[in-house]
Amino acid sequence: GASRLPAVGTTIFTVMSALAARTGAINLGQGFPDFDCDPALVDAVAAAMRAGHNQYPPMTGVPALRQAVSDKIALTTGRRYDADSEITITAGATQGILSTVLALVHPGDDVVVLEPCYDSYGPSITLAGGNTIRVPLTPGTWRPDFDALAKALTPRTRLVIVNTPHNPSGTVWTADEMARFAALLAPTRALVLSDEVYEHMVFDGVAHASVSAIPELAERSVVVSSFGKTFHVTGWKVGYVAAPAALMREFRKVHQFNVFTVNAPMQHGIAAFLADPSHWQSLAPFYQARRDRFRAGLAATPLTLLPCEGTYFQCVDYSALSDKSDLAFCEWLATEVGVAAIPMSAFYDQAPDMRVIRFCFAKKEATLDEALRRLRALK
Ligand code: PMP
Ligand code: GLN
Repeated sequence: GASRLPAVGTTIFTVMSALAARTGAINLGQGFPDFDCDPALVDAVAAAMRAGHNQYPPMTGVPALRQAVSDKIALTTGRRYDADSEITITAGATQGILSTVLALVHPGDDVVVLEPCYDSYGPSITLAGGNTIRVPLTPGTWRPDFDALAKALTPRTRLVIVNTPHNPSGTVWTADEMARFAALLAPTRALVLSDEVYEHMVFDGVAHASVSAIPELAERSVVVSSFGKTFHVTGWKVGYVAAPAALMREFRKVHQFNVFTVNAPMQHGIAAFLADPSHWQSLAPFYQARRDRFRAGLAATPLTLLPCEGTYFQCVDYSALSDKSDLAFCEWLATEVGVAAIPMSAFYDQAPDMRVIRFCFAKKEATLDEALRRLRALK
């Protein structure tokens, strides 16, 4: 029969990681740290296994972890989500996104995404039978374009998916922008899926603007986050969703048949680790130092730096060097220069004509320095 996802191939992250492995290039493509997590987190998971937390946990997640998530969100946004009825632990943010879309979107509904965007949104909407309405972020700055967004919102709009701090551009919405977004949605029936997986990676003293901090926005929103990003464990695939109880009831109907529940010992270990706020509060200065080191090095190459306000991604414009397509440039860069990156066009359905690639700087200083040494050979 016909494919449910005819346009989908292998994700660019897998493709570029394979290219890096094949060519021996330093992999600054797919977003993941090349250093290990805090050994105390591993100890906490091991202790949970030894304590016998090896059978199915509750469908919604281990109570201590849901409580720790509730406490963290209350501390950072002022909103208290009920740990029993408003928080669910997921198999990473990806599952949180798919299950949210499947729970909320009916066939024929419009779902607005702001492009460029993470590559799982479109296929999730397609699987739910929704129509993806792509609204471009402002070209060049990638800030939200509220006039374009206003035009895209209609009575058919069921859901709007937003992402700040933003993958791939590294922009971070201001509190003002989040307030404008809330005002724009006020007269509509649209729900919101807010992808906040990089919430703790915001630089230069700026605060992350969460939908949870604006009550009338939080009432219509599902917030998604990921411990993979926050605790340097992308391979563990544990995250959470937070939403008002009525939305969470619908989410859980899908979640229980999607994964039912998420692995027990990691939930217990993360619960113990998350309870100390210093474990996530240290993330922003940690990555800011890497961003600054990486940007200082890139400034000595012909690549043009674009802003990086948050996330662990740095985008650069290479138009001074080449007029190759971004995919061709990434293939050339991995093969000939020995550094792998991600082409910006991978985050678009129909990419505009631009010469931009994304590097991930969640790497050891030695890795970044060697990548910079190779990139300094560019002319
Ligand atoms: N959303 C965004 C914006 C991401 O960058 C990622 C990580 N690739 C995810 C969701 C998925 O996170 P996870 O690995 O926890 O599924
Ligand atoms: N989120 C990561 C990125 O943007 C990769 C996730 C994946 O490999 N699917 O690079």
